[in-house]
Amino acid sequence: MIPYGRQHISEQDKDAVLSALGNDFLTTGPKIEKFEIAFAEFVGSKYAVAVSNGTAALHLSCLAAGLGKGDELITSPLTFVASANCALYCGATPKFSDIDEDGLLDPGRLTFSEKTKVIIPVHYGGLPCKMSEIKEMADSKGVTVIEDACHALGATYKDSKIGDCTYSHMTIFSFHPVKHLTTGEGGMITTNSKEFYDKLVALRSHGIVSDGLKNESHGPWYREMQMLGYNYRITDIQCALGLSQLSQLSSFIEKRKIIADRYNEAFKDMDKIGVVNQKSDRINSYHLYVIKVPDVKMRYDLFIYLKDNGILCQVHYLPVYLNPYYESLGYKKGLCVDAEKFYGRIISLPIFPDLTETEQAKVIRLVKGFFS
Ligand SMILES: *Cc1c(COP(=O)(O)O)cnc(C)c1O
Repeated sequence: MIPYGRQHISEQDKDAVLSALGNDFLTTGPKIEKFEIAFAEFVGSKYAVAVSNGTAALHLSCLAAGLGKGDELITSPLTFVASANCALYCGATPKFSDIDEDGLLDPGRLTFSEKTKVIIPVHYGGLPCKMSEIKEMADSKGVTVIEDACHALGATYKDSKIGDCTYSHMTIFSFHPVKHLTTGEGGMITTNSKEFYDKLVALRSHGIVSDGLKNESHGPWYREMQMLGYNYRITDIQCALGLSQLSQLSSFIEKRKIIADRYNEAFKDMDKIGVVNQKSDRINSYHLYVIKVPDVKMRYDLFIYLKDNGILCQVHYLPVYLNPYYESLGYKKGLCVDAEKFYGRIISLPIFPDLTETEQAKVIRLVKGFFS
C-alpha cells in the first residue's frame, strides 16, 4: 500500500538517536535547546519552545494568550480537530468561520465578537492563509493570532517564512511522522515575544519556575509553581532526531515540491480535477496534495478504486463541527456550507519525500484512468 504520507528516516537519523541514548540526559537536557535554536533559525523567529506534540503546542499557546472561560476562539472548520479542541481545553468556545476556494479561512467572512480572544488560521495543506488581512483585523480588535502551521513548515507568505511570526503572535508546528519533519511525536511553538516565550516554557513543565520568583528563595534548590501547567515536555532523544531531520529539511521540502509539480503537470488539462494550488504571493510547502473532483459520489468511487489498486489516500478533513462530540455541543450541519461542500469533493493523493517516480506515475495513471 502506498500511503498519503510517511516519514523519511536516514542512517544519520538512526545514529543521532542511538548516540542520544548514551547521553547523561534523556529528557530536560541540552538537545532540547539546541533543537529550539536551530528551528528558530530555520523559520526566522526569535524564540522556539519544543513540546510533546502539536496539540500540546496549541493548548499552551492558547493558555499563554490568556484564553479562558467565556472567551471565543475562531478557527477553520477544515482542519484537524486539535485546532478547535484547544479552545475547549481552556473552557472557551470554538467558533468556525467559513473557507475560501483553497480551503483557507476567508478574511472577508470573519466576524469578531466582544468575546473573541484568539484566532487560529490553519495553513491548510501547506498553503498559507491571507495573513496580512487576518492580522490587521485581529490587531484592530486586540485578538491574539496563533498560526496552526502543522502543514506549512517551509512555506512562505509574501516575503515572510511561515513561523517567523511576522503576521502572528505565535505559530505552532507538529512533528508527527506524516508532517515535514518528525520526532515520532513532537511539536514546536515559535514567537518573537519574550513574554509569551517565558510563559510557554513555564507552562510546558507544570508552571514551575526558578527565575522571577514570587516568594523568597529558600536556597539554590528553590523553585516554585506559579501557574497551572502541564508535563508537555519533549525528550532529548526526540530532539536529537529532530536536529538530524532539520539538517535534511530543505531537501524534504524540495522533494515535496517536485512531486507536486509533477501532479500539477499531469492534471493540468483534466477538467474533472481541480487542484488546491500555489498563489503568486505564497509558496505552498505541500504537506498535502489535494485534488477536488466534481462530486461526492465520484470522490467515494475514486477513493475505493485507488485503495483497490494499492493506494491508500485520505480525506482532509471532515468539518470539525460535524464530529459527534461537536454535534453534542450543539453545532449543526449548515454552519459553514462551503467547508461542507469542499469536504465532499476532496481527496489527498500520496506526497512524501520517499515516494518514487514509479509510484507517483502509478498514482497519476490510475487517477487519469479513473476519469477517462
Ligand atoms: C497534525 C496536526 C495537529 C496536531 O498535531 P499532533 O502533533 O498530532 O498533536 C494540529 N493541527 C493540524 C492542522 C495538524 O495537521
